[in-house]
Amino acid sequence: MESVSAVEVIDLVKTFGEVRAVDGLSFSVSEGEVFGLIGPNGAGKTTTMRMMSTLLQVTSGSINIFGHDVMKETDEVRRIISYLPEEAGAYKNLTGRQYLEFIARFFAKGEGAIEIAARGMDVARLGDRIDDRVETYSKGMARRLLVGRALMFRPRLAILDELTSGLDVISAQQIRRVVRDSTKAGTTVIVSSHNMLEVELICDRIALVNAGKLVELGTPSELKYRYGAANIEDVFVRVVG
Ligand code: ATP
Repeated sequence: MESVSAVEVIDLVKTFGEVRAVDGLSFSVSEGEVFGLIGPNGAGKTTTMRMMSTLLQVTSGSINIFGHDVMKETDEVRRIISYLPEEAGAYKNLTGRQYLEFIARFFAKGEGAIEIAARGMDVARLGDRIDDRVETYSKGMARRLLVGRALMFRPRLAILDELTSGLDVISAQQIRRVVRDSTKAGTTVIVSSHNMLEVELICDRIALVNAGKLVELGTPSELKYRYGAANIEDVFVRVVG
């Protein structure tokens, strides 16, 4: 069966004054894939993800998501994606439950919203703490709430920047499982991470970006084979270092 293209990025450029944060990036992501973006600090990962999420103007080139151009069909794109920012805040004076229900009500009414929020709570797994105010959460707990928010809508595309940043080992493993499972429910995932074990575990394919350019692309096995490397961290060091 031929795979459907979920994302097409062509010759993407983003400049901030003199800085070329993204410098002619092209890649495509197939429907149902978990696609990893890795690269050193300042490589352009967040900038790319923010353009995909319609939050940042594209300087030149194009991004197409399930047939919709992010610049021309912004509303259509926003309806089918969800974005987990690298740094994000939740409304701190609400409880976790109230926060998820509040967000869910933008998309559905009554029981529909409660059902969506319940899925978010399933992902966040905060136990009794879901009824505590968000301001009392640890960094990792707040992160889990936001991952719940990003996945509870069953988006066609989830764009997850630094997915498990700040999470303990057990929480990170559980969130990775949720992300992998979300593909079975029809979600395509783009994830960035500095955790090379993580990308090796969950990504079908990995793009390595450096100075705004694509420098490697392949499945974890292909990349390791290409560099005779024991793991993706080794590949990273050989390509970037
Ligand atoms: P990290 O791993 O550190 O999160 P990254 O790969 O996500 O890095 P970006 O945040 O996309 O990198 O940054 C790419 C480049 O663009 C950097 O040189 C950064 O300083 C620059 N940059 C990003 N946002 C802006 C902005 N709003 N104004 C000016 N420069 C910016």
